[in-house]
Amino acid sequence: MYDHLIRNATIVDGLGGKPYRGNIAIKDGVIAAIGDVSGNARETLNAEGAYATPGWVDVHTHYDGQVTWDDTIEPSFCHGVTTIVMGNCGIVPRIHRVPFDQALHHGRRHPDSP
Ligand SMILES: [Zn+2]
Repeated sequence: MYDHLIRNATIVDGLGGKPYRGNIAIKDGVIAAIGDVSGNARETLNAEGAYATPGWVDVHTHYDGQVTWDDTIEPSFCHGVTTIVMGNCGIVPRIHRVPFDQALHHGRRHPDSP
């Protein structure tokens, strides 16, 4: 028995192939089967008319600051992204007496910064 079963989705799996119709089964927080999946689940969702995009890797994000206050890292994960790469653009937050959001949004450097 799966935990979740998404049925009748148009699946875009990120492997470069064309979208296809199928099901996605999830067990213990991991995709256990994808495609022509049979079986039961504690929770079933009919995704008829919707896309499911599991397993995408977002190789260029700007979550360096956001990851410090947002444990869901929206919107990537609601779009099927399961892995993100951060640090692409050289933003590295560090503790200052000036609040990080102020430094980030105003581009100021703290006077104690080297
Ligand atoms: Zn960038």
